[in-house]
Order: sequence, then structure tokens, then C-alpha cells
Amino acid sequence: MKKIKMVDLTGQYEPIAKEVNLAINDVIENTSFINGPAVSNFQKNLENYLGIKHVIPCANGTDALQIALMSLDLDPGDEVITVDFTFASTVEVIALLKLTPVLVDVDSETFNINIDSLESAITEKSKVIIPVHLFGQVANMDEIVQLAKTHNIQIIEDAAQSIGANYKFLDGRKQKAGTIGLIGTTSFFPSKNLGAYGDGGAVFTNNDSLAYKIRGIVNHGMYKRYHHDVVGVNSRLDSIQAAILNIKLKFLDKYNNSRKKAALKYTELLNNHSKIQTPKILGDEDSHVFHQYTLIVKDTNRDELAKYLNQNGIPCGIFYPIPLHKQKAYKSNRYDEKDFEVTNHLSKSVISLPMHSELDDDQIEFICEKIIKFLK
Ligand SMILES: *Cc1c(COP(=O)(O)O)cnc(C)c1O
Repeated sequence: MKKIKMVDLTGQYEPIAKEVNLAINDVIENTSFINGPAVSNFQKNLENYLGIKHVIPCANGTDALQIALMSLDLDPGDEVITVDFTFASTVEVIALLKLTPVLVDVDSETFNINIDSLESAITEKSKVIIPVHLFGQVANMDEIVQLAKTHNIQIIEDAAQSIGANYKFLDGRKQKAGTIGLIGTTSFFPSKNLGAYGDGGAVFTNNDSLAYKIRGIVNHGMYKRYHHDVVGVNSRLDSIQAAILNIKLKFLDKYNNSRKKAALKYTELLNNHSKIQTPKILGDEDSHVFHQYTLIVKDTNRDELAKYLNQNGIPCGIFYPIPLHKQKAYKSNRYDEKDFEVTNHLSKSVISLPMHSELDDDQIEFICEKIIKFLK
């Protein structure tokens, strides 16, 4: 059996190595390092893939969220609602811009924003909702879109973990993750489903004037050379990363299908165990691209299980061990512990298993055997 890895970037690189190396070489030979043709090609290809009018590439997924918020002309103190159970980026950029983060609880089965908690968090000051499509599964966008409309709130989807997921609305329409809200954002961090060989990110929108504004924000607030109309940032996707992403984008559906196949195999082997809750897919199967395969373990010391798996050569991850409302930087007296029953529980009981496009059945069987042996 091959050595088990949490993500196998070498295994994914090998079959495309020649093509990738040529593309990198091409950028070097043309010295088109910044905003070269590879960047505009990738932008167009991703627009076509997602079925969206505008993709604005940028330096990373955190910048993408920050830039999205900057484009909305918000005032200090405006409230931005997001989840307590996510990577810190999402809340970090809200606080950085002097907006007020309002964290809410998640759903115990999907780990995505809890609609009742979202609804009760809405106030007159609420301007934006940032649903995070956590672990690759699109949040309940039927309900979120409805609530946002009713209360005149904008949606920025954090699709860092869900690129390629295809959400099916109750009326049967399908739309890719990140293309449903006013703005969507993603990350091309190497371990993401569409990973570069360094940092990268992108902002998506169907709104022409917003896209124009965002293109200026990522470029120092410049719409005409050396005329700075708004305060911007310097946030670019490197041409070398764009050239690599252009190749990997062709295989994204294949990669996501391999992840799904691995997830189904895990679930088949672990589903009947009384101490394990396997991941639930809400609605359509295409709405989950398994960035992570995350179990909830019951009546079990989760950290002991993680240690046992590590001792047996099985890496695993704890996403996320501390809810954001408990982090020093994001504590607030507006919160009450009973508002975060689910995230408090999840932070102690979730465990993510190895998940990537190169995982094989032997490895999955070995991992599941060890888990079951530990839980008995
Ligand atoms: C990875 C991630 C980000 C940030 O992406 P970077 O490219 O690392 O800045 C933001 N939100 C979520 C949910 C993520 O998983």
C-alpha cells in the first residue's frame, strides 16, 4: 500500500508534470510574470467553467474576501453575518475593515450556516451575509437567498472549499458554488480542490459595474494609470500560478469525482457504526465536492483517536478545534455560549480523514479498519 497522505500533491502532479513544466517554462521564457496572457486565459476559462460573467483573479482567498467586502461601500459598524465554524479568514477581513462580524451557529449535519440562527441574527445594521460552503458542500442557498432578499442584505459566498460544486435549487435550477450570491470568492491554496503551486484566489460576480470596481480595487484603486480613485490593494495572481491552474482546471471535475468516490467508499465502510456520524449531503449529490471528509465521533475521545491514527501512519486533521467566538481576536460580549451549541460540540468531536484525488480503496479500507478497531 502507498504511504497515506492527508493530501497527495505529488501524486496529482505526476500525470500532468510535462504539461505543467512546459507552461511554467513558457512564462519564464516570455518574462510575462505579472498579468501575462496566462492570467487572462485562466480568467476566461474559469468564467466559462463557472458560467459567470466576471472572474477577477487575485493573490489569495483571504484577499478575495477582503476585496469583495471593500467593493460594497460599507460603513464602519455595519454588520456582516458569518459562521462561527470556519477558517479565520472569513471573520478576519470583516474585522480588518472595521465592520462588525456577527458569528452564528451551524447546522449539526451539514456544518453549514444554521438558517434559524442566521435569521435571528439579522438586525437593521446587517448588510452582508457570508455563507461558507464548508468542507465542499454548498450551504442552503434557497433559504439564504430568500432571507437576504427579504431583508435587503447582500450575499458574498466563501467558496474557498467548494469550487466545482453545483447547487440545485428547489425549482431544479443548478448553479455553481460562488456564482449564486452578488459576489463569490475562492482560494487556490495548494491543498484546495483547485490548488496552485503557491498562493492564489479569485472573486466572481455577474454584476458588470461591480466587476469594474473590483478590477480597480485589486490594482491600487487605479482605473486610469496613476489616477487613484478609491483606496485599493495590490493583489494579483502570478502568471506562473495562472498557467498551472489553467492546466488543472481541465481536470477539476475529474478530481472532484475522485474525491466523491473516495467519500462514498468511506461512508460505505463507516456508516453503520454507532459511534460515527458520516457526512450528510443535503439535497443534490453534486452540491458536495468533499474538500474534507469529516466525521463526528460520539462517546469517544477524539484526540485519542487522532493520536492512534497518527501512530498507525494515518494523518488526519481537526477542522476546526476552536470556534471563532472563543478566539481572543473575535470574542465579543454580544455572544452567549448557548448560541453556539453546535460549533462548541463540533470543535470537540470532528475529525477529518485523508481526502484527495489520488486516494485508493486499499488505503481507505486500511483507514476504516483502524478507526473501527479503535472505537470497537
Ligand atoms: C482557505 C480558505 C480561505 C482563505 O484562503 P487563502 O488562499 O489561504 O487566503 C478562506 N475561507 C475558507 C473557508 C478557506 O478554507
